[in-house]
Amino acid sequence: MSDFEKTHVPVLIIGGGQAGLSVSWYLMRENIEHVVLERHRRFESWRNNRWDSFCLVTPNWQCRLPGWSYAGKDPDGFMLKNEIVEYLDGFAESFGPPLLEGIEVTRVSMRDEGGYQVETNRGTWTCDQVVVASGGYDDPIVPAYAADIDPGIVQIHSRQYLRPSQMPNGGTLVVGTGQSGVQIMDDFHLEGRAVHLAVGPAPRSPRKYRGRDATDWLYDAGTYAVTIDRHPDPVKALTQTNHYMSGRDGGKEIDLRKYALEGVGLLGSVAGAKGTAMTFLPDLEKNLDDADRSYLGIRTQIDAWIARQGIDAPEEPPFEKVWRPQREITEVDLTALGISSIIWAIGFRPDYSWIEVDCFDERHKPRFNRGVTDVPGFYFIGLGWLNTWGSGRFLGIDEDSRYLADKIAARQKSLLAA
Ligand SMILES: Cc1cc2nc3c(=O)[nH]c(=O)nc-3n(C[C@H](O)[C@H](O)[C@H](O)COP(=O)(O)OP(=O)(O)OC[C@H]3O[C@@H](n4cnc5c(N)ncnc54)[C@H](O)[C@@H]3O)c2cc1C
Repeated sequence: MSDFEKTHVPVLIIGGGQAGLSVSWYLMRENIEHVVLERHRRFESWRNNRWDSFCLVTPNWQCRLPGWSYAGKDPDGFMLKNEIVEYLDGFAESFGPPLLEGIEVTRVSMRDEGGYQVETNRGTWTCDQVVVASGGYDDPIVPAYAADIDPGIVQIHSRQYLRPSQMPNGGTLVVGTGQSGVQIMDDFHLEGRAVHLAVGPAPRSPRKYRGRDATDWLYDAGTYAVTIDRHPDPVKALTQTNHYMSGRDGGKEIDLRKYALEGVGLLGSVAGAKGTAMTFLPDLEKNLDDADRSYLGIRTQIDAWIARQGIDAPEEPPFEKVWRPQREITEVDLTALGISSIIWAIGFRPDYSWIEVDCFDERHKPRFNRGVTDVPGFYFIGLGWLNTWGSGRFLGIDEDSRYLADKIAARQKSLLAA
């Protein structure tokens, strides 16, 4: 019987990205029968949802998928999009997961007789256990007032962004200073295109510091091993935007003040828009200061680790603010400023509308402990801080998937024994 003809399988994994296939790797090792359903192609997010010049922000050595750690020549470098896809394809080929592509799960519900019903665009399956590995980046966020902006100004979300030449001539306003926003701004700046950046409250990180990548120091210091249940400020960890920095050109720090000196127009957070008028909060200086505070906090953390360990590491010059805004600009006319396009880089929301299982809290966030929900046999994987900082990234997915596979295997054994 081919997989397409099967209607029941012990375990169904929904999503063929690194998270779903890492769980599959462990289930294969445990001989647990399962199928991975992917609506597009494996690793679709890396293949098709990243811009042309995209490269990792985390160093290559953090790519540690089960049985498939990065083995290239540049562990301290940052793979480009096609290299990431190659690395991932190699992972999938290393173990041949039972993956069915082009199958979209449209509804998951519990069956009265136990287990789950999984409806897809290619028929209905039943299973004993479900792993949701659908990623956290389904719906691009765009504010409602974007609809009121003059149609002459082209707007896209970072999801649609490929390269500067895709946007019309003239200036571009990039909104948001998460990792995508600052890297897209940098893409325009490097091509000599006029670009403005609406600076939000995101923190930033040093890149190279005292002779090594900041993430190397933090890894050694145990920062990435801190679990969410032991985190000193779990609410902040769960809600804060990622620290911005870049892996471009071998890795670089992003000090927006330097970009301002080089001609990038910095503005505060966008507050609203109508026609060609856009309003901003008077928070540019505060946001720059806060980002620097987080940057300096990481430097202090690393300094303390170096001192405690007695490591001989080169000193760094003290941080200097090379630019500050002369005044807060709270209103601009986009056309007068030469802005002909806007790129919204303010994030995504997951879409769980297809999951009809009582595993969500009042804000529709999945309730779980390390991915294990309180609904027997129902799991999530691949989400930020599912357990540690690395959970929604390459670094932590091996540990998380091993943990989940153990739980799945134990349940499958108890179901068989019953
Ligand atoms: C812009 C960006 C940059 C990033 N940079 C880094 C980085 O530098 N380093 C790092 O470690 N991490 C990075 N990440 C985070 C993380 O590594 C990626 O988001 C990664 O893609 C997560 O893998 P995943 O398998 O959890 O989810 P995804 O890769 O999103 O895979 C989920 C899969 O599920 C499929 N799917 C969804 N719904 C359904 C359905 N209903 N039915 C069937 N299939 C479905 C999707 O098509 C998709 O293929 C970045 C993320 C983003 C968005």
